[in-house]
Amino acid sequence: MGGTFDPPHDGHLALARAAAAQLALDRVLLVPAAAPPHKPDGVATPAATRLAMVRAAVGEDPLLEASAAEIDRPGPSYTADTLEDIAAENPGADLWFILGADQLAGFPTWSRPDRIVELARLAVASRPGAGDPAMDFLAGTVAAGRVDVLDMPEVPISSTDVRARVSRGEDVSHLVPAGVAALLAAGAGS
Ligand code: ATP
Ligand code: MG
Repeated sequence: MGGTFDPPHDGHLALARAAAAQLALDRVLLVPAAAPPHKPDGVATPAATRLAMVRAAVGEDPLLEASAAEIDRPGPSYTADTLEDIAAENPGADLWFILGADQLAGFPTWSRPDRIVELARLAVASRPGAGDPAMDFLAGTVAAGRVDVLDMPEVPISSTDVRARVSRGEDVSHLVPAGVAALLAAGAGS
């Protein structure tokens, strides 16, 4: 599961846990992007801070793991490269790339989307404001036949909203894991 995680929130954990439960996954890696190609304005919060927040979000949950794979790799963070590394490190593993429906429309424009769906199936959850994760266009894209739609209640939380609340001095402890709230209160994030 990739993303900017600026900051990680309860929607990310709900998505990871829904995927793990429904697909019987042994492990879910949360992989913060170093330089996300889809956020051309960049991400204000340093990668090391976002990784520390993902580690705090994952906590002691044995199913979840924060991965520094993209932060340790120079250059833009392409999912296809990350999946190639994960596949090489885990020979024979069945892989899924987990994402919210808001990411689907742009998926065909990502770097080597055909390679992504060759290495992994997509596990997609609906997201408030995004299209239906089972939307018809998928049938005609490179991801045809490689998508699993997750049955998960929509979680109306986004990092953008959490950042706005933090900048207004509002409490966000009902939106993010406790460890992340503590880091934000200590000044992590932008
Ligand atoms: P931002 O508002 O900064 O874009 P975000 O909340 O969308 O932040 P990202 O780090 O961009 O968080 O998302 C990482 C992945 O998690 C993406 O695939 C995104 O679709 C998914 N995701 C994030 N929040 C939710 C949510 N509430 N429900 C389902 N999927 C989510
Ligand atoms: Mg997003």
